[in-house]
Amino acid sequence: MSSISGNLQAVNDRIATAAEAASRDRNSVQLLAVSKTFGADAVIEAAACGQRAFGENYLQEALDKMAAVKAQRPELLLQWHFIGPIQSNKTRPIAEHFDWVHSVDREKIAQRLSDQRPSHLPPLNICLQVNISGEASKSGVMPQEAAALAQRIAALSNIKLRGLMAIPEPAGDEEAQRAPHRRLRLLAEDISRQGIDLDTLSMGMSADLAAAIAEGATIVRIGTAIFGTRHYG
Ligand SMILES: *Cc1c(COP(=O)(O)O)cnc(C)c1O
Repeated sequence: MSSISGNLQAVNDRIATAAEAASRDRNSVQLLAVSKTFGADAVIEAAACGQRAFGENYLQEALDKMAAVKAQRPELLLQWHFIGPIQSNKTRPIAEHFDWVHSVDREKIAQRLSDQRPSHLPPLNICLQVNISGEASKSGVMPQEAAALAQRIAALSNIKLRGLMAIPEPAGDEEAQRAPHRRLRLLAEDISRQGIDLDTLSMGMSADLAAAIAEGATIVRIGTAIFGTRHYG
């Protein structure tokens, strides 16, 4: 068994265990395999194990990888999620090539994605990235500004606002990890009560997957635990 296949099995087991502990349906949590810095071969190997949703942070790398996967396996139907920082002059290829964008944190980006989404494709699924730990250096809308931004973005026509995304500060034990995930869930519930129906919480990475699922994550974004340590360069 390859390491990717064994790792995927282990991650799926962790998700099932965490869902069961939270009395949640396993199928209410989607695994997004974060393949940034890994090549088309790694994606194809994960796809051979049944994985269909892949997350990418760097636009050019992602576009090259999508083309390479398509050339080698044209029959594979994969779902691509953009989860990295977005420059406003790079929105068009994102609108054209992705199914989801998790990292929208300002209206201008959402407006451009909506304007540039090709009309033959379904609306682009969007999550608002929230700076849930309040870190000065992190991207993401501040929690107190999220509802107003959600109201403006929900009105755009070629994107569909699905929910919220966060990358909390690392914390040691599961109880400490749960706090920011809980704040994101409560914020999403608050926005939903204001009439914007949100069905997605994108939260939880390799180190805090169980805490995120305990607090209601519907998409967990897992890289290292599936593909191994990343090497940039
Ligand atoms: C890289 C990345 C991940 C995956 O993190 P791991 O710790 O490797 O599981 C998840 N979400 C975002 C936004 C990322 O940039």
